[in-house]
Amino acid sequence: METRVAVYDDGAVDLEKLSLPPRGVGEIDVAMSTAAICGSDLHTVLGHRSTPDRTALGHEGIGEVLDLDNDVHDLRGERLAVGDRVVFALFSACGSCDRCSAGLAMKCRNLLKYGHESVTTAPHATGTLADVVRLLPGVAVLKVPAEVDDRHVVAAGCAVATAAAVVTAAGPPAAGTRALVYGAGAVGSYTAAMLASIGVDVAVSDPNPDRQAAVTALGLRLAADDAPAYDLVIEASGSPVAFTEAIDRIEIGGRIVAAGAVSPGHSTVTFDPATLVRQRLSLIGVHNYTAEEFRYGVDWLLAHGQRPEWSTVLSAPFPLDDVERAFAEIQRGRFLRVLVQPGSDA
Ligand SMILES: [Zn+2]
Ligand SMILES: [Zn+2]
Repeated sequence: METRVAVYDDGAVDLEKLSLPPRGVGEIDVAMSTAAICGSDLHTVLGHRSTPDRTALGHEGIGEVLDLDNDVHDLRGERLAVGDRVVFALFSACGSCDRCSAGLAMKCRNLLKYGHESVTTAPHATGTLADVVRLLPGVAVLKVPAEVDDRHVVAAGCAVATAAAVVTAAGPPAAGTRALVYGAGAVGSYTAAMLASIGVDVAVSDPNPDRQAAVTALGLRLAADDAPAYDLVIEASGSPVAFTEAIDRIEIGGRIVAAGAVSPGHSTVTFDPATLVRQRLSLIGVHNYTAEEFRYGVDWLLAHGQRPEWSTVLSAPFPLDDVERAFAEIQRGRFLRVLVQPGSDA
């Protein structure tokens, strides 16, 4: 089978044509209908992380099942068929190693991460900015009803599932819980919306005026500088300043969930450990998510994420042929996600 894949190599993004070998047992080939460029794709393309040669880009998206074995089921136990619309997790896990057994499948000892692998190694088609993605049997998949717009579920596999993991780490909210979310990127915005939907009184902090406008457009509230301390603070910006502020603005007994700083070696912070001790604080890091959290995120999208305002934070779709221009657009920072529609080139 032939597919085009957006590839990062030697400082440039190119569209490569690949000839895929026949798929393996249990693998699912998915024809991408819409993919989204995430901030971490941009990190890769800007050279902020070490990457293998010819990295297949993209790990968010929705597509249609093109080819699969008999008797393959999604996370809900629904049988999958050719033509079903699916979203999927950004990693494949073995399900049997010590980390998988400990509920840390995203750190599986046999992990494969979509959007970060070379097209030279199996299963080759591991980026969503492509005509076809090949899902290994260890990837969590969920069917999406036919009537749901691509745009409303396109970020399921990274931003939304990560937000679900953050909300899970925050724990069930007590009545009257007040939360502050640092960073109105995709993870921060979805986290804030999810917290609001379970009754948390949530405010969002972001210094960028465009992002502030997006917060308001999404029906969320901006944080006041003089607000009293918060029961829960989410650090989703990756800024070391926000991390330090989080410790200053948390109530005694409060919980800080940190999910923003994903690139090691880029920042350090200083804080007095006595603050952590004397204020009885909990500090939890969240990176990626479990299959259950992915399902929570997709269920939330289907119940709450289909309001038109969520479309305002997404770009108009670019054809796959224009993937370089799509990367230029995400770098401009006007949109939380820039969309690419592989099927729109014909
Ligand atoms: Zn991502
Ligand atoms: Zn494992």
